[in-house]
Formats: sequence, structure tokens, C-alpha cells
Amino acid sequence: MTQIYLLSFLTGLCFGSFASVVIYRLHSGQKGLFWGRSNCPKCKHALAPTDLVPVFSFLANKFKCHYCRKPISLTYPLLELTMGLCFLMTTYWAGIESLWKLPYYLFLTFIFVAISFYDILYQEIPDQLSLPTIVLAGLADVFGHLIAPSSLIIGFAIPVVFFGAMFFGSRGRWIGGGDIRIGAIMGLVLGYPKVLVALFLAYCIGSLFSVVGLITKRIRLKSAIPFGPFLFLGTYIAMIWGDKILNWYLKFI
Ligand SMILES: [Zn+2]
Repeated sequence: MTQIYLLSFLTGLCFGSFASVVIYRLHSGQKGLFWGRSNCPKCKHALAPTDLVPVFSFLANKFKCHYCRKPISLTYPLLELTMGLCFLMTTYWAGIESLWKLPYYLFLTFIFVAISFYDILYQEIPDQLSLPTIVLAGLADVFGHLIAPSSLIIGFAIPVVFFGAMFFGSRGRWIGGGDIRIGAIMGLVLGYPKVLVALFLAYCIGSLFSVVGLITKRIRLKSAIPFGPFLFLGTYIAMIWGDKILNWYLKFI
């Protein structure tokens, strides 16, 4: 069993490095999303396979490009590590009994982490990642019967209506159109009432982050903090521990 977790962690590291390629190409508008070799963003030098070993290449090259020696952002190894740990956690939770369950949830994990890092880097939610995920999650609900229909409808409506109202009420200043798409993913993946757990966690962690950031002067009052990563963090926690959190909470009522 231990080998499976090690394997899922290593697979996650590789998908993390793949995600950084996807993010970079989506942003730069380069064609050929899924093939072709990666280049150094600074000197454009094509990278050899030994430069593409997740995390280890960064450590071996001391976080600098192998060719131009310009520093590489810590974001990339961090993205790979996050993906590795999340793949490990998802595998532990979803189990390997079902043929389609694990790949489906690993795909969601990949998307959550990839969109979060895209949002952190560029303050934008790419439609190319969010829209196909909405379609796939919808299909998984219809054919996989993961969530009861009533729970699905309510769970979908709450974040979409809530974010939609905020978006139109503030004319896109408080929240972006991309956040509404994340709301749709949240509803389709979690259903009601887990979607409430996710929203609650996202706002709590987001507020905590902002307060700590303001106190330590890492962020300024007017700086725009991307909300996507908090929404996905809340969604991920609710996806894996939502039932436990709800049971724990219901003891107090
Ligand atoms: Zn370079």
C-alpha cells in the first residue's frame, strides 16, 4: 500500500511540472498546449529532460536556469510540491477500488491546483481550464450519480447566485466572472450542504490570510488578493473532509 502513496506523490510532482507548462503556455498564448518541449521563460533555451525533473532539478541548479543562470521563481517547485502532496491526499481518500473514481478526483485535484496557481500568478481564472471542468463535473454527476439531484441543484444554485449577485452588484469590482465559474465547479463537485462548508472555509482562510498579511505589511489595503486559491482550498477540504466537518458541527446544534 505504501508504494501506491509514493507513486501517487511522484505522479503528482510530474503533473505539477506539467501544470507549470500549461499555465505558462495558456498565459503566453503559445500553441501546442500538450506537446513540445518546455523552454526557459527568460532565455528561451529548450530544456533537456534532466532540467525537467520536478523539484530535484530546481535543487540541483540552485533555483537558477541551467543555461542563463537567471533565478527561477520559487512558485514552480512550490506548485510541484503542492500537486504531489494533493495527489497523495486524494489517492488516500478516494482509494483505488473504483476504476473511474480515482482518475476523476485526481483530475479535479490537478485543476484546483493549476487554476489556483494561475490566479496567484496572473489574477485571472482561465476559461480554458474552468469551462471543461464544469462540463466534466456535470457529466460525472449525471452518469456517476455522485450526488442526489436535489442536493446538486441547491448546491449549484447557492454559489452561482451568490457570486453572480456580487459580480453584477459591484460591476465586477468585488469578484471576477471567473469566480462565478469556480462557484459552478464547487456546486457540481460538492452539492449541498458541503458547498456551504467550502464557502465558509474559503472566507475564513481568506480573511485570516488578509489580516495576517496586513499586520505583517506583506499586503496593502488596496492590493487585489486573488480569491480563487481560497475557494479551491475550501472546496478541496470540503471534498475530502466535508462529511466529518458537518458531523462535528451538527453535534453543537
Ligand atoms: Zn534561461
